Amino acid sequence: MSKANNPKLKSWVEVPAGSDFPIQNLPFGIFKTQYLTAVAGVAIGKHVLDLVYLYEKGFFDGLGLPPGIFNQEYLNPFIALGRKKCGEVRERVSELLRSDNDELQNNVAARELALIPMEEVEMRMPVQIPNYTDFYSSEEHATNVGTMFRDPKNALLPNWKHLPVGYHGRTSSIVISGTPIHRPKGQIKLPDSESPIFSACKKLDFELEMAFITCANTALGSSVSTRDAEDNIFGMVLLNDWSARDIQTWEYVPLGPFLAKNFASTISPWIVTMDALEPFRVEGPKQNPKVLPYLSYEGKKNYDIGLEIVIGEGKNETVVSKSNFKYMYWNMCQQLAHHTINGCNLQVGDLYGSGTISGPEKGSYGSMLEITWNGKEPIKLNDGSERRFIEDGDTVTLRGIAAKDGVRIGFGDCSGKILPSL
Ligand code: CA
Repeated sequence: MSKANNPKLKSWVEVPAGSDFPIQNLPFGIFKTQYLTAVAGVAIGKHVLDLVYLYEKGFFDGLGLPPGIFNQEYLNPFIALGRKKCGEVRERVSELLRSDNDELQNNVAARELALIPMEEVEMRMPVQIPNYTDFYSSEEHATNVGTMFRDPKNALLPNWKHLPVGYHGRTSSIVISGTPIHRPKGQIKLPDSESPIFSACKKLDFELEMAFITCANTALGSSVSTRDAEDNIFGMVLLNDWSARDIQTWEYVPLGPFLAKNFASTISPWIVTMDALEPFRVEGPKQNPKVLPYLSYEGKKNYDIGLEIVIGEGKNETVVSKSNFKYMYWNMCQQLAHHTINGCNLQVGDLYGSGTISGPEKGSYGSMLEITWNGKEPIKLNDGSERRFIEDGDTVTLRGIAAKDGVRIGFGDCSGKILPSL
């Protein structure tokens, strides 16, 4: 086990109970203050640790890091150093923040400058994303959608249990948590009409997803095996793949998602490393039928990460669903092996969405489409109002927590407010 994951570790930096960012987490992100340009940082409790400052003061001496590696607008150059080197940096940060280490703790001037209160920073996109792929890997979600729109007896299409179905998304509209989203417009075909109308989306939805970020460039023509896949995965974020269900229903045949999906996708700002998630590995669901050899794998490849979806803000928050990343039928290693089996290359900073994560029962579904069964069974929010889909002015927040042995690792909020159409 990595020393930084020891549940007994305590930090000299205050970490309030229920914080997403204890010393066992140490996620990486890009932040900006009023006085500094955007640079790399690590979250600890209610503070951001400025990695540029620590580097310049010699706290990373001996790690062989290239000059300026943290003084960047995006984390791409840092994560391109690879899992091992990034892991060494996380271990060193952990060491500096441990209550029994006085290097930074007893250096009052350095401490003041290195730790910035979170309310004084603006989080930026952590990576520049060259490619975005979205999978469809939750059996419960695919079954619910197939039941609703096709045939309950054959809800899953024949390919679904043989390969992780996915599509290529768009990167230009991926935004950081807190970015407001205008309701999309487009073509909608109402059920009682022969031809489509042009309208603001009437069935705006969220999709509860997680996404992983790759940290290697692979050669065109080569493939990544399930065994080597993890070397290429730096960490994970929460992803809300906003979806316009009425636009989707009309446009998706025969080539799949297009304008119903590419108007916006929101990610959480902190990349939680696979190193930090190591203690939360669990077995995945049993796969039957047996997969082809290139998709077979050994060991625990799923992760126990509790997820929740909230509509509203502050006192008006309503938790509308609780799910878990462990429900994924296809794991990340299988997704990468499948993605590259044809010779498609990976790039540093690529984002790979899991697909909507629904659990087995009502109350654990990952979209309004499923929660209200396409609007037929509206839900009540705590303020007394009803929702079939998402309304203008609604804020939707995704949260993710991995908890075990008294350690609670969170992702920070993945939040977005819906504004009226432009
Ligand atoms: Ca999706």
